[in-house]
Amino acid sequence: MSKIVLLDESTINKIAAGEVIERPYSVVKELVENSLDANADEIIIKLKEGGKKQISVIDNGDGMSKEDLLLCIKKHATSKIKKIEDIFSVLSYGFRGEALATVAEVSKTEIISATEDSEASNKLIIEDGKIKSITEDTKRKGTAINVYNLFYTVPARQKFLKTEGYELKRIMDWIKSIAAANYKIKFKVYNENDLVLDLKEQQNYAGRIKEIFNLDLIKSDYSDPVVSSIVYFSKPSEVKDIISSKQMFFVNNRPIKNDTISKAIYKAFESKVPRGKKPHCFVFIKIDPKVIDINVHPQKLEVRTKSENTFYFSVYESIKKKLESGFELHTDENYVPGLRTKIISLLESKTQYAQNKIAKAHQNIIEERKVGPKKEDNTKNILLLEQKRELVKNIATEKKYRIIGQLLNTYILVETSSGSLLIIDQHVAEERYYYEKFHDEYMKNRKIASQSLLVPISLEFEPEDMGLIKEKKENLKILGLDLDIFGKDSVLIRQIPLQINVLPSKDDLRQMILDIISEPEIKSETNVGNANNLEKKLDHIIATMACKTSIKAETHLTEHAMSRILEKLFSTKNPYTCPHGRPIIIELTKNEIEKKIGRT
Ligand code: ADP
Ligand code: MG
Repeated sequence: MSKIVLLDESTINKIAAGEVIERPYSVVKELVENSLDANADEIIIKLKEGGKKQISVIDNGDGMSKEDLLLCIKKHATSKIKKIEDIFSVLSYGFRGEALATVAEVSKTEIISATEDSEASNKLIIEDGKIKSITEDTKRKGTAINVYNLFYTVPARQKFLKTEGYELKRIMDWIKSIAAANYKIKFKVYNENDLVLDLKEQQNYAGRIKEIFNLDLIKSDYSDPVVSSIVYFSKPSEVKDIISSKQMFFVNNRPIKNDTISKAIYKAFESKVPRGKKPHCFVFIKIDPKVIDINVHPQKLEVRTKSENTFYFSVYESIKKKLESGFELHTDENYVPGLRTKIISLLESKTQYAQNKIAKAHQNIIEERKVGPKKEDNTKNILLLEQKRELVKNIATEKKYRIIGQLLNTYILVETSSGSLLIIDQHVAEERYYYEKFHDEYMKNRKIASQSLLVPISLEFEPEDMGLIKEKKENLKILGLDLDIFGKDSVLIRQIPLQINVLPSKDDLRQMILDIISEPEIKSETNVGNANNLEKKLDHIIATMACKTSIKAETHLTEHAMSRILEKLFSTKNPYTCPHGRPIIIELTKNEIEKKIGRT
């Protein structure tokens, strides 16, 4: 008896479905791309349960005749190419002719369509990949497609779907990116009958970026005979934390992921933005389709170029040129070198550490010695770290230090008993303190204690984030943030972590919440269901909370405030590096100073 069997068509199709249709977002993507390929200028998307129950895409495009309607759900049925060479000249989103066949195989699908010349619309109903009926309907030019109960034919796949909030967010993120590229097209999105996105016709990319993201960015461009690019980016002085910075890349209006472009942006901005920050950046590349291959990824999320340099050079050059052409910049480069050595008024320090803090700092150092260096200290730095700890210990126990003053409203300058100059970053110093506090508290109690606000703070969010906030309300509470949902797009913050003693700005609170609700990058699809990811990304979340809670750079501090920060810093286990790995203290020893001055 032979063990090998040939699979039937329906099984083959269902296996292949995984490649193209992975979740509701993929259905929306395929349908909307088809509407764009059909020259629609208005596209309406309706969703139920984050698309799991229903996805409808209604367009006013070219439509299909009855004959085409019957063909469109067949595998390898496409009107966009005829032969393989055509792949290297198509500018349409689709060309493989497999999306509708796949969608129809894994859901109940209705397609209603009419062309300009049709007398009536035709309505096709497909279940489990088979045509159930085709009937006439009142004429409406264009196509409407309803997809019900995705994956009901493949229950195993249904298990991989996540919460409504998550699926909706994936869909909205994609719609915003495709809409950014197609700025002339009107888009409307309804979720459970609520209009959650309403985009009008725009004149250019900038108008669309403003409309969707409310960003005013700088434009730069580049062009040579092979490739042209338009880049919109934020001023280096207005860069954002990595999590809230938006970077989107498009090749011939197709949203793609591309490491080379990321690298080009990073390099162009290197040294102009602080570590841990990124500019918003929208890159629109137009290139002759002959020199790229878009047929390398099942969902066409990547493109291959003949030479890596093609993208790199055009993006890097375009940004670099603009940055150097000199709109005002607040970067290191613009500081007059002399300013740094300007004489700082020396203040006589009257404050001393509270005795118990010193004892605690001392204890921490001794304890850590016993336990050995923390994971984050790599071996070659251990010796250095030991020496540094010695220094902190001496400062703390002997109390022989003096606050000199504040430099650039950002650094606290301290003279130690041994004649060293310490330059301490005020923001990261506090950040280290809060990081350890939050971390220790969570590890001890599995939750962070909170305090009630006298006046609750109201914050606005994108409608698609609201779903995730609702779902992650418990996680937020565990982390000391208690809130009430208020209407469709706002929340009322009632409690914040107890440790916080200065109220963070609304923007910072929003960032903290967004960080907690956002999923960690999904590396594999093997994590079935909605496992609680809180613990996995706790370190990252706590680092953000600490960052948002801490005093900012460029904030004037009184002497008292400076000494409070030093007290906090010297009570931490690792006063030398911030949670993101940046140094907190720079030490200039007496020796080093004398060498520079030429005394020795
Ligand atoms: P592809 O887009 O790769 O050609 P699809 O399976 O997505 O494959 O679609 C098959 C065909 O059905 C398309 O080539 C197009 O001719 C037709 N079609 C699909 N959606 C629409 C639509 N919204 N309007 C007009 N024609 C459509
Ligand atoms: Mg298609």
